[in-house]
Amino acid sequence: MKLTWHRKNLHLKHPFNIASVQRQQTTEKQVLLARIEHKDHIGWGEASPVSYYHQSKESAEAVFQQAASMLGNDPFAFDAILDPLFEKFPDQPAAISAIDIALHDLAGHLLGIPVWKWFGLDAKRIPITSFTIGIDTLDVIRQKVHEAADYPILKVKVGTDNDDAILTAIRDVAPDKTLRVDANGGWNDQNVLERCTHLAKKYRLEFIEQPTPAGHHDALPAVLHANPCPIVADESCLGPDDVLGLVTAFDGINIKLSKCGGIRRALRMIHTARAAGLKIMLGCMVETSVGISAAAQLAPLVDWIDLDGHMLLADDPFEGIGGNHGKLTLNDKPGLGLSEK
Ligand code: MG
Repeated sequence: MKLTWHRKNLHLKHPFNIASVQRQQTTEKQVLLARIEHKDHIGWGEASPVSYYHQSKESAEAVFQQAASMLGNDPFAFDAILDPLFEKFPDQPAAISAIDIALHDLAGHLLGIPVWKWFGLDAKRIPITSFTIGIDTLDVIRQKVHEAADYPILKVKVGTDNDDAILTAIRDVAPDKTLRVDANGGWNDQNVLERCTHLAKKYRLEFIEQPTPAGHHDALPAVLHANPCPIVADESCLGPDDVLGLVTAFDGINIKLSKCGGIRRALRMIHTARAAGLKIMLGCMVETSVGISAAAQLAPLVDWIDLDGHMLLADDPFEGIGGNHGKLTLNDKPGLGLSEK
């Protein structure tokens, strides 16, 4: 098998802000697209390295450099290929995820079926995705909510001193939409119980994601006891080893392929979370339809999805998963069901 990769510059439709990256606006994004070739078939994968998790394009490319000579010639030897990579590069799940995704796409092409079908899943059970509204001025937020009129579920970035004003502005424009919020760790032990209780009730929230920073969970059992709405771990839940340790502080987990290391590890997290009684959400970074389609293959197994990364892009180089009205479609094409535009 032959692994090649290239950097891809992507442009966002709108600048994007979140609480954990204060005042830093993103309008451009660079991802890495990986390609594994075997006989006459090609599998695509994507890495979206995140500096918050100490990853960079350079660190991901260093993984690809080594992995290129470790792939061997059996595209179905997932464990034999991936386990040594996780051992050698334990802090580079985004790059390993790209290889895992490309192998799944390739395997699907070799089998002639979509990955979801190979896994025996029911494509009709895919939940509606939320559409994310980033932190911005209230006027821009209102404008974005107007523009998101087609999406029945909004995920709102909060975790600021201005959360009430943000949610009031959104409820003014969208009084009846399902609203979930993501604080990105922006609250603390002193204010988290009051904020969760107040905001969940006043704005009828579906769930709250990552209220306090990763590792700062002391106040969360009391929040769970008060039960304002489900509390979901994102930054606190990186990979399979984290899942069981979260049951006393969270109601659910947000799984992202680039955070956990790909489809194979995401599946392990899904089964562990289900056994532990946790709710499951699938999330994403800002990424192309390659990364989003890969995550969507598992969507029939989860409760909530937030797979809108490709919809935030002005220039997605692939298509296949759709997204109008929040409805992603698992198609019948082999692998991840992608076509290059
Ligand atoms: Mg999040």
